Amino acid sequence: MNGRNLQIAIAGAGPAGLAAALYLQRDGHRVTVFERFAEPRPVGSGLILQPTGLTVLDDMGLIDEIRMLGSRIDRLHGTDAASGRTVLDVRYDARPGGRFGVAVHRAVLFGTLYRAAQRVGIEVVTDVELDAVEPGGRTRLVDDKGRGLGSFDLVVDATGSRSKLRRSAGLAGEPKPLAYGAFWTSLDWRGEGFDERALSQRYRRASVMIGVLPIGRAEAEGRKMAAFFWSLKPTDAERVQADGLAAWKAQVARLWPESQAYLDQIEDFEQLTLARYGHFTLAQPAARGFAVIGDAAHSTSPQLGQGANMALLDAASLAYALRQASDVDAALASYLRARRWHVRLFQALSLVFTPFYQSDSMLLPFLRDSLVATVARIPPTPQLLASIVAGTLIDPFAPAGLEEADWTSRSDEGAARIPA
Ligand SMILES: Cc1cc2nc3c(=O)[nH]c(=O)nc-3n(C[C@H](O)[C@H](O)[C@H](O)COP(=O)(O)OP(=O)(O)OC[C@H]3O[C@@H](n4cnc5c(N)ncnc54)[C@H](O)[C@@H]3O)c2cc1C
Repeated sequence: MNGRNLQIAIAGAGPAGLAAALYLQRDGHRVTVFERFAEPRPVGSGLILQPTGLTVLDDMGLIDEIRMLGSRIDRLHGTDAASGRTVLDVRYDARPGGRFGVAVHRAVLFGTLYRAAQRVGIEVVTDVELDAVEPGGRTRLVDDKGRGLGSFDLVVDATGSRSKLRRSAGLAGEPKPLAYGAFWTSLDWRGEGFDERALSQRYRRASVMIGVLPIGRAEAEGRKMAAFFWSLKPTDAERVQADGLAAWKAQVARLWPESQAYLDQIEDFEQLTLARYGHFTLAQPAARGFAVIGDAAHSTSPQLGQGANMALLDAASLAYALRQASDVDAALASYLRARRWHVRLFQALSLVFTPFYQSDSMLLPFLRDSLVATVARIPPTPQLLASIVAGTLIDPFAPAGLEEADWTSRSDEGAARIPA
């Protein structure tokens, strides 16, 4: 922005907030991050970084750190529990270019971004519960005790799906709870019967989805891990717990005998975190002196595994827009344009795909297992599915000022440095 250094507040130290802070500080702005946790920390188990998110991390110079700990993913594979038939088989290499995903423990993504922020001296103010913004020429940020935390040229809301800030700025929309959520946990990796380069899933109709995702290591000397999940309605969680752990484990083992090696590691429901999902897309994720990024602007179920990746793309796009524009208003208008269609497309796809895997419908899983499973093998469907999973169905890179990472040159660096 013509050499102008802005004073910018970033609300929230999740993937979106930390990535935005790194970009904006690198561009010469004065950045302060505000976070509710006393000690910034990640929540949840594992996630897949797609070629979109990996390209952003590459642009920030952080991809090697991620690859060193994460687990390369080439394929998403799902079978029907009753028939053993493959009903989902999406491979990144259905398209040329050598793309792949990297599954990581959330602590790895968080730690990589947080350490990078510390290295460049970004100020992170913790233990502060943000409550409101007052947008304007200079935007005021206010905490839950009504104390002003300062006035900024720009406040970036990266406080996640339940953002209070976007509400206070008058940006309408709240997540609509989805019927299904999941129990998630991180366990030690057990390879027998599982592909170490795949997200493996097993389904019974659309009411049960069990998943095993190799996520590499949480730290260099740590053991290899897997994220394990079981989809269920949050309203059923109490009943499942009341029936007891043994009954639940027996049910899982019946549907997926090979998962016993994971079930053996679960000794208490306390080890399982109940995740609830909501879906919403903010029509206009910006107001005067105020930008909304990440889950605060769009949240959904993790069925397509795009959330953190879209958060990283938002951060890159916002920084690029500020670099190109003559003032903050013009930059925000250009940020809205840059992300509009990619976000809308993937939010719509997530809404369409989720009920095929997580709903009470009998018809949708029937279609999935019969018709769709067959069509999925006929070109160009495999290529189309690969682009959906990669997050590249429409170009997400050019509007963010990014060039896609060169996958062939870095196909197997990283993970190889750590002994198996
Ligand atoms: C079970 C599960 C599995 C998932 N799997 C995938 C996957 O495979 N791939 C993928 O890309 N995505 C996945 N996602 C989605 C992904 O986790 C989110 O899209 C991503 O974390 C969004 O990042 P964010 O920074 O926008 O928000 P968040 O990660 O929610 O971070 C928000 C930050 O703001 C802070 N904060 C919130 N409110 C306040 C406040 N009032 N004051 C101060 N600080 C505040 C929070 O403490 C937090 O640190 C999954 C999500 C879930 C729940």
